[in-house]
Amino acid sequence: MSGIRVCAVFRPLNSKEKTYHGDSISIRGIDSESFVFKDEKDEETEFRFDKVFFPGSEQADIYEVLALPIVKAAASGANGAVITYGQTGAGKTYSMEGSNIIQCDEKHKGLLPRVVDGIFNAIKSSDDIVKYTVKLSMVEIYMERVRDLFDRSKDNLQIKENKMQGIFVNGVTEISISDSAEALLALSTGIANRAVGETQMNIASSRSHCIYIYVICQEIRKERRHGKLILVDLAGSEKAEKTGAEGRVLEEAKTINRSLSALGNVISALSSPGRGSHIPYRDSKLTRILQDALGGNSQTALLCCCSPSPSNASETLSTLRFGARAQ
Ligand code: ADP
Ligand code: MG
Repeated sequence: MSGIRVCAVFRPLNSKEKTYHGDSISIRGIDSESFVFKDEKDEETEFRFDKVFFPGSEQADIYEVLALPIVKAAASGANGAVITYGQTGAGKTYSMEGSNIIQCDEKHKGLLPRVVDGIFNAIKSSDDIVKYTVKLSMVEIYMERVRDLFDRSKDNLQIKENKMQGIFVNGVTEISISDSAEALLALSTGIANRAVGETQMNIASSRSHCIYIYVICQEIRKERRHGKLILVDLAGSEKAEKTGAEGRVLEEAKTINRSLSALGNVISALSSPGRGSHIPYRDSKLTRILQDALGGNSQTALLCCCSPSPSNASETLSTLRFGARAQ
């Protein structure tokens, strides 16, 4: 199976990276799907993905390649997921939210607002006999606890499963949205709540997974269909254990590592041809929430977010390897 589309995006160099290494970058493009990556020891590895977005790429192109097919599928009743992976500072949140979720020009708009537009465009162009409802929930997973980003009093939600809904977060707040403007308002509320909660608990947003769940329900006469589209802005993949972290920071790092490895294991189990029947979805809250949006008839896209700087070569290499393993 290759129901998974894997792309890589390299953000532009930042000023700190330019200070240390000038304009030098660790990649040399071959074509729009492949490039050569040079690691710290100047060893070269070639990578090939479904698409590579080199520094300065357009967010609109990333949306079209990565998310648009999944949005269309979700609007007709299928499930799907779009996941951003990479070290902190590599561009995951920028790719998801854009420079700002509400006040953002077309060029800097991220996947989330484009997905919303995509959903409502698909609905508008559909047959009138179909009645649609769209609901949005937002949760954060920190230290294997699922918190509701629309209601901070719900801070340890359980994940359940039933015939009607498939996998769902029990008791999570769902906001009904009827157009893009309402969706953006809801998203910005969730994002602001996340920041407030993290300040109160003194945790960095890069240490939790942020999950956006759109449920698109169609009613055609008496028949109902659900499409679920999940977007995930993952916690930073950097190996904090190596930096001599202790106490809570070390525990955080281990928990993140476990859930990211669980995700890697699930994706590679799904994409390896001779796969056995066991897919380890229950190894983490992250993979459990994603269970019915990965595999089966679901479409999945993984965006490996990378710094192009030689100073981040070792983390970038590990991000690219994660992507290569998912193919
Ligand atoms: P992450 O969420 O992976 O920790 P961010 O998305 O916060 O990283 O990005 C770190 C910084 O780099 C931010 O200031 C962001 O605006 C900038 N950045 C990231 N990706 C891009 C890009 N594709 N183009 C321009 N700036 C970017
Ligand atoms: Mg981020």
